[in-house]
Amino acid sequence: MSDINPALQPTPPEATSSGDPAIRHVVPTPSYESHPVVDMGWQLPAEAITVRIHWFGLCVGYFLVNILGQPTHRAELNGILTFGAVYALIDTLWSSRGQVFLERTPLFISFMEALFIGLLCHFDQGLDSLFRFYYFLSLIVCAFRYSTAVTVATLGLHAVSYVTLGIVQGIQTREDLQVMSLQLVFMVWVTWASTALANLLKGASRQLYELNTELQQNQTLLEKRIVERTAQLQQSQALLVQHEKQAAFGLLAAGIAHEVGNPLTAISNLVQLLNRRPLDADMHERLNLIDEQLRRIQRTLRELVDFSRPASNQRTTGDVHAVLDSALNIAKYYKRMKGKRIVTTYESDLPPVSMVRDQVLQVFLNLILNALDATQEGTVIEITTQSTDREIKVQVRDEGCGIPGGQQVHLFQPYFTTKETGTGLGLFVCRNILTAGGGAIELVCSTTAGTTFAVTLPRSV
Ligand code: ADP
Repeated sequence: MSDINPALQPTPPEATSSGDPAIRHVVPTPSYESHPVVDMGWQLPAEAITVRIHWFGLCVGYFLVNILGQPTHRAELNGILTFGAVYALIDTLWSSRGQVFLERTPLFISFMEALFIGLLCHFDQGLDSLFRFYYFLSLIVCAFRYSTAVTVATLGLHAVSYVTLGIVQGIQTREDLQVMSLQLVFMVWVTWASTALANLLKGASRQLYELNTELQQNQTLLEKRIVERTAQLQQSQALLVQHEKQAAFGLLAAGIAHEVGNPLTAISNLVQLLNRRPLDADMHERLNLIDEQLRRIQRTLRELVDFSRPASNQRTTGDVHAVLDSALNIAKYYKRMKGKRIVTTYESDLPPVSMVRDQVLQVFLNLILNALDATQEGTVIEITTQSTDREIKVQVRDEGCGIPGGQQVHLFQPYFTTKETGTGLGLFVCRNILTAGGGAIELVCSTTAGTTFAVTLPRSV
């Protein structure tokens, strides 16, 4: 964990969108100095160091003026140092708020520093004053905080300040001239060394920053891919589960139909044989009743077997109304059908549709069963069909409890269910079936007064 103040952390570089919001391209940065964002990341930590250097310089200054030396202008020097302390205080406050004081006018700061050091030297010992070393400190700090151009300009200002000092003081001896020349040479030297070193550090920092940004982008991309792959895997797993369940159910239904169907046929034959005998009218009527009920059971078994036989994937052209009727025929055995009415409003002469019949049947059945689950006794479920030039639309409307807004976004996701015994695969499978055949399914509306789903099937060409 880094203990750097978050305000001092580099801000991420500008990014452009490529359509996919997760993929971001960083705009290449030609050079360090032309990149304000990276510059900002460097400037704040540099500012924090500068603040400490300023305070140290001021303490040394006060020590020189008041304890070590016996200057004739102690009051003036203390005044100038206090002016510097006020500036350092403001700078410290700005820095603690993660900002740089007078950030946009570095040359003004350099000018003030040149004046500050020049005045200190002037009221101290002139060209020989120990305060002349402040010029070096100022140049080093400037090189680390600002660009080479600003540092060179600061060197110019400091040179002007020191030369002016020499002129004001009057260069009297050859020694004075030597001191001044040497000071100027050292100032150039310090500028050169510190800018070279600072640029090296800034370059390394920029490279590190770019690598870090790239790393973060790759990580985001990787995370996005993992999420996508996981979702794909979950969806194929859900489809597999659904297919396996259907296959198992089909096998079970076929087994039951076989086991129950044979004895039923035998019983039915016996009843018919008995019915041919001369019996009293009441007995004939009862036998007819038994026969009728037996036929009903056989019919139900046949429908069960029809529904649960291995689904055909054969695409055929067929009548949507016939498929809807088959679905309704199966739904009538559903326990929640009791006390409810299903009204069909079919468009006359509905054009045929190219479809995988068994799959479309599954879609309609799922919508009808969902509607039955959501409604109370005494309510109506309405099924309407409609055609346009390109497609056929089937709407299933119920007067049920509705789907709360927060749940609607999860509707077609696998395993989303609010039912105790639900699988949450119904709508997910419906959407897969329909989109594979060029159709669609959508939630038209859902309020506490009811829900409407619409299925769209492309018309046969
Ligand atoms: P399952 O029926 O196994 O729950 P579905 O994918 O068919 O799976 O349905 C998912 C959920 O959508 C249901 O649990 C239910 O909360 C909601 N839902 C679907 N259709 C309706 C409807 N007509 N009215 C209210 N809620 C519905």
